[in-house]
Amino acid sequence: MLRISQIKTSIDEPVEKVKELLLKKLKIQESDLISYRIYKESIDARHRGEINFIYTVDVEVKNEVKILKRKIKNVSPSPDLKYKNPHPGTEPMAHRPLVIGFGPAGMFSALLLAQMGYRPIVLERGQKVEERVKSIEDFWKKGKLNPASNVQFGEGGAGTFSDGKLTSRVRDLRGRKVLEEFVKAGAPEDILYKAHPHVGTDLLRDIVKNIREQIIALGGEVLFDSQVASFLIEKNKLQGIVLKNGQKIFSNHAILAIGHSARDTFAELYDKGVNMTAKPFAVGVRIEHPQSLINKAQYKEFAEHPRLGAAEYRLTHKASSGRGVYTFCMCPGGLVVPAASEEGRLVTNGMSEHARSEENANSGLLVQVFPEDFGKDHPLAGVEFQRQLEEKAFDLGGKNYKAPAQLVGDFLEDKASTQTGEVTPSYALGVTPTDLRQLFPEYITSSIKEALLGFDKKIEGFAMPDAVMTGVESRSSSPVRINRDEESFQSLSTEGIYPSGEGAGFAGGIVSAAIDGLKCAEQMISTFARP
Ligand code: FAD
Repeated sequence: MLRISQIKTSIDEPVEKVKELLLKKLKIQESDLISYRIYKESIDARHRGEINFIYTVDVEVKNEVKILKRKIKNVSPSPDLKYKNPHPGTEPMAHRPLVIGFGPAGMFSALLLAQMGYRPIVLERGQKVEERVKSIEDFWKKGKLNPASNVQFGEGGAGTFSDGKLTSRVRDLRGRKVLEEFVKAGAPEDILYKAHPHVGTDLLRDIVKNIREQIIALGGEVLFDSQVASFLIEKNKLQGIVLKNGQKIFSNHAILAIGHSARDTFAELYDKGVNMTAKPFAVGVRIEHPQSLINKAQYKEFAEHPRLGAAEYRLTHKASSGRGVYTFCMCPGGLVVPAASEEGRLVTNGMSEHARSEENANSGLLVQVFPEDFGKDHPLAGVEFQRQLEEKAFDLGGKNYKAPAQLVGDFLEDKASTQTGEVTPSYALGVTPTDLRQLFPEYITSSIKEALLGFDKKIEGFAMPDAVMTGVESRSSSPVRINRDEESFQSLSTEGIYPSGEGAGFAGGIVSAAIDGLKCAEQMISTFARP
């Protein structure tokens, strides 16, 4: 198989043009081409007045060796990207392994364990997706939060009600396995080659259910409404867990994939002496603009071209204080969603459906915060810092889960908003116009102000007066790292616990959490024999 990169077509040429161009590039007849498959497609909008698609293509041809000898530019043998299963180890495993949490990290570790015959038992505190949808609808429509099953907790984890962006900055071949498993479970095939693949919450809900069914068909168990309340640890070794209903399950091996919002579980782990440290994260607001403004800024005269879809952005700024400010989890054509998991505390986030066809674009607009900002030298001080912000946001919004909001124009002029304008906020429970300076320490508001002006130079209109900012975006990543040994992937303090995914501080996003779940399962598999 040959890999050809840098095949360029203009935006108005059909994708079939790729075949013509690759034949030309290889100087071969159509009869010499056995098959071809797009490996990667990206959009190049860097040059004024033109937009191109750039393809990397895998090609099967007759006379491959002969073609390679011609040393054609951008033509090379295709690398072998096939995922290689780990070899099972030999140490005995007395009980079936546990996977705590069924977000991307837990789901993919459980899937691999099941595929390799380890019959994992998955414990998930939230509901299965079919029921979780109803709990979330109750919250979004009536303000009735279910603390056990919500946007953060339940089947599929935090990303189920998301834009389902599947980009990851982690360069790891396991990423390909993750995408292939998603496709097997019902995701569109284009996620395998688009430079910025995304699924959308509507499709994700079916995908996570299909992965669950696959794990069960392979001999695994997936238990919902099953919160792990405590850990049985003797002589620094895991012996089992205790569920909230009192049931004990014995096992010396557990992948701990609890996400960044399991604050009660962090506290329990801390009480049991599991090694953890506070880590930096970021907080801020969610900002909404008309999607048409973003399309125009990114694609100019090509905005609304049928081959382009809703435009994205990713922006970074270094504030004069030295803090990084960046946009996070941008959702083109999406909605700002109520994402709280604790009563009396308000959290925002964003999601989109596959079509990305809502009127507004939204994105987190976040400022880095560090353990020195948390006011206490304690591993869980970041959790307290988040909680205080979320409580203030709840109060400012009117204590009914309406989100406090401010127009960018008012924010830049240091005055409270009293109404919204051209941009209709999409947050389902409604917003309360206010002054977000009451929510944040000064170093956050001043950093956001600077960044807004900087971002306006990159995306024309980013600081438009009627853009809406809602708060608080406090769950961008974990405030804690549950430290693990770099080789065994087990907790530094507690043998048998494999901290994994975003909550343990080893991932940020769906794909990187899934990759980390695979890594932990691989370590467990390659050490122990099947139970
Ligand atoms: P989680 O997904 O948080 O899963 C942890 C699971 O553990 C949860 O289901 C929880 O219920 C369970 N759990 C916790 N404690 C216990 C316990 N004690 N017992 C049993 N179960 C427990 N990322 C992207 O890459 N692209 C996006 O488009 C995107 N959009 C997002 C939109 C929203 C609204 C949110 C909230 C997040 C979004 N993210 C996105 C981030 C992404 O969802 C997370 O990075 C990812 O889900 C982390 O995976 P994880 O498995 O480590 O943890």
